[in-house]
Amino acid sequence: MKYVSTRGGVTPVGFADAVMMGLGTDGGLLVPERIPRLEREDLVRWARLRFQDLAVEVISPFVGGDISRGDLVDLVSRSYASFSHAEVTPVVSAGERRILELFHGPTAAFKDVALQLLGNLFEYLLARDGGRLNIVGATSGDTGSAAIAGVRGKSRIHIFILYPHGRVSPIQERQMTTVLDANVHNLAIRGTFDDGQGIVKALFNDLGFKAEHGLGAVNSINWARILAQMVYYFYAWGRVSGGDAEHRVSFSVPTGNFGDIFAGYMAKRMGLPIDRLIIATNTNDILTRFVQQGVYAAGEVHATLSPAMDIQMASNFERYLYYLVGEDPAVVRALLEELRGSGRMGVTIEQHGAVREDFDAAEASDPETLDQIRETYAATGYILDPHTAIGVRAARGRQHAICLATAHPAKFNEAVRQAVGVEAPPPPSLRGLMDKEARSVLLDADEQAVRACIRDTLAAISS
Ligand SMILES: *Cc1c(COP(=O)(O)O)cnc(C)c1O
Repeated sequence: MKYVSTRGGVTPVGFADAVMMGLGTDGGLLVPERIPRLEREDLVRWARLRFQDLAVEVISPFVGGDISRGDLVDLVSRSYASFSHAEVTPVVSAGERRILELFHGPTAAFKDVALQLLGNLFEYLLARDGGRLNIVGATSGDTGSAAIAGVRGKSRIHIFILYPHGRVSPIQERQMTTVLDANVHNLAIRGTFDDGQGIVKALFNDLGFKAEHGLGAVNSINWARILAQMVYYFYAWGRVSGGDAEHRVSFSVPTGNFGDIFAGYMAKRMGLPIDRLIIATNTNDILTRFVQQGVYAAGEVHATLSPAMDIQMASNFERYLYYLVGEDPAVVRALLEELRGSGRMGVTIEQHGAVREDFDAAEASDPETLDQIRETYAATGYILDPHTAIGVRAARGRQHAICLATAHPAKFNEAVRQAVGVEAPPPPSLRGLMDKEARSVLLDADEQAVRACIRDTLAAISS
């Protein structure tokens, strides 16, 4: 399988190169040259597979000959051994509502499903093709810990995560700083998340420094992350359909950067019988407005009880746009130009009709989020985290929609307590964090200080 850029400026590359490239060298996003189409008998057979075997089937056609089947089986099995549930991503019931639990990984949020595989893929490809990778990223909380958990202890990889000192929750900080592997470097910055992100951008823009130290990112646009997330749509369908190929389902997806729901869109394009994909947003509702009005226009970013979804410009949206305009990079470029120039872009009436065929959308405010946690708890005893609650609310009136649970409620116990007066008991991965040994370096929010820290750390390791 070859990969091309949504902006048309990348010579087609194979799977391994697409994974290592991350963002396209032309600034676009990589997509497969064609989407494999499932036979009906595949679908029926896949419905009976356990998660790991299903993952190999879903992922294989996108890898092509780049990784042998035996090696892929090994990568998948090691990646999901770190999950605490035997089914990896089980479908459970809360009353009548079906919930697809994606939070049984090492950091108790759905990003583990993709980042556990991505870490192993990086290590495998670096060992095979030679090279080293030094990941540098800024986090406001959750992505940092999932990225660290994905690459801890891996050879040929170091990871430097900048986080705002005193501004992430104690649990989030501890999820990062109690990882003591020699390749993990936590940098607490005396400043804000934006300061950290500004420093990371400056380091990546210094092409000399970037090349000298082999800097890379683990952002949400890596194709392998989308691929890993497609698996659980197939898995959930298998659980509720019993393999009946006529059985159509809808999914409600708490959405920020559009990565998770785009994986659902790809699964649908492959032939999974999906009726609707429901985009659930908080008051950062650019995507909801797009589905309802056909205009994509950014607003201000608001802080909410569902911080992982406090996003306006969804980084994966460009992938969907590419398919919406008939896989024409020139049209994608023109629309992005319009967005850059005026802060908004519009699609045609036909295209807007196509959007509404694939998606529904709904937003929820913080009070509505708390209401939903309360209502579900009162009716069923099941505790939703605030992100998942937004998805459940968006699925109202669609009783058969499967709701994706993207975080364990114990990660957001303040909101849970506010809603229902009790806390969710923590899963094993979140227990005892406050008593463990922790390690981080405290630095000023200063590019030179961070640069020196990275340089000295890497020099000390290689000497
Ligand atoms: C990242 C995240 C989301 C949003 O997922 P996208 O792929 O960015 O749309 C939703 N909920 C939680 C808990 C997350 O960590």
